[in-house]
Amino acid sequence: MSNAYPAGAPRSAERSASAGRPVVDLRSDTVTRPTAAMREAIARAEVGDDVFDDDPTVHALQQRSAALLGKEAALFMPSGTQANLCALLSHCQRGDEVLLGQYAHTYRYEGGGAAVLGGIQPQPLAQQSDGSLLLADIEAAIKPDDEHFARTRLLTLEDTWNGQVLQQAYLDAASSLAHRHGLSTHLDGARLFNAVVASGVAAARLTEGWDSVSFCLSKGLGAPVGSMLVGSRAFIDRARRQRKMLGGGMRQVGLLAAAGLHALDHHIDRLADDHRLARRLAEGLSALPGVQVTPPDTNIVFATLASGQGAALLAHLEADGILATGLLGLRFVTHLDVDAEGIDRTIASVRAFLRSPERA
Ligand SMILES: *Cc1c(COP(=O)(O)O)cnc(C)c1O
Repeated sequence: MSNAYPAGAPRSAERSASAGRPVVDLRSDTVTRPTAAMREAIARAEVGDDVFDDDPTVHALQQRSAALLGKEAALFMPSGTQANLCALLSHCQRGDEVLLGQYAHTYRYEGGGAAVLGGIQPQPLAQQSDGSLLLADIEAAIKPDDEHFARTRLLTLEDTWNGQVLQQAYLDAASSLAHRHGLSTHLDGARLFNAVVASGVAAARLTEGWDSVSFCLSKGLGAPVGSMLVGSRAFIDRARRQRKMLGGGMRQVGLLAAAGLHALDHHIDRLADDHRLARRLAEGLSALPGVQVTPPDTNIVFATLASGQGAALLAHLEADGILATGLLGLRFVTHLDVDAEGIDRTIASVRAFLRSPERA
């Protein structure tokens, strides 16, 4: 739990000692490596100094991202964590409050940055099994305008949440509710394009009710580094100032922006392949005795063993050259460096584990 992404594990391009076959790395879609075509795009990139705001490739990526989401402006960020932090710092003042899910990445997995650096109070709310917050809970958590309370300023949701796609009607209702109460809205869309591809809802429509949106280039989209923060011109101007303060102003970063542009051109539609592989894995695992699998919406498969031997299974898989994590149950993430053969090897390895005599 404390170490979801173990360091020192074998890398996907290396060979596992056991079988001499490539490692199947299902720990996260962050492990993807730039393709040959992406490396060429990086090598060809025109660059400038982005702190002087004159890197043409960064400009192109920012314009593309804003256009894709139907918003005015965008900002290239070093990471999703910094994109979310800049968003919260740009929406909120010290003493303001953000409503978010108790398991939201922004609440749990970003070092409490908004509280540490922004004096922003998080108000975590219980999440439903699909990751949503009840509208009634959101409404009840909005504090009255009274000196006893922090000023409730922002609602943040996450889509996909643990690989699940939030319903469009819910996203619309939640953002309208927030706006009705004078709150701003931020969508943590680290895996936004997985939601877009799975739902068939265009990115601009999906994010319509959200004043700002972050999405990662470095996960399923396959870029080595980077996230985008998207919103109104005035919001992005504030975020740019925050990014500089946080040390996120980068110079000839068009090299990385070129990878991001390549990802937006070539790696969105192919997310459907990752989703197909996730379904293949889910179907294969759920056919095995004693394995419970949550049917995946996108590229993340969660499974639990009735025997409770998840940790032993992870060790068995690793010895077989297959990497996964145990964050909330066993977690397997598909991405562009995984193929059907790797998925079938994973299913076979779990089957062998369950059949081994000492498990009987
Ligand atoms: C990965 C992720 C982030 C942050 O991404 P980093 O680039 O690793 O900082 C934020 N939110 C969600 C939901 C994520 O999955």
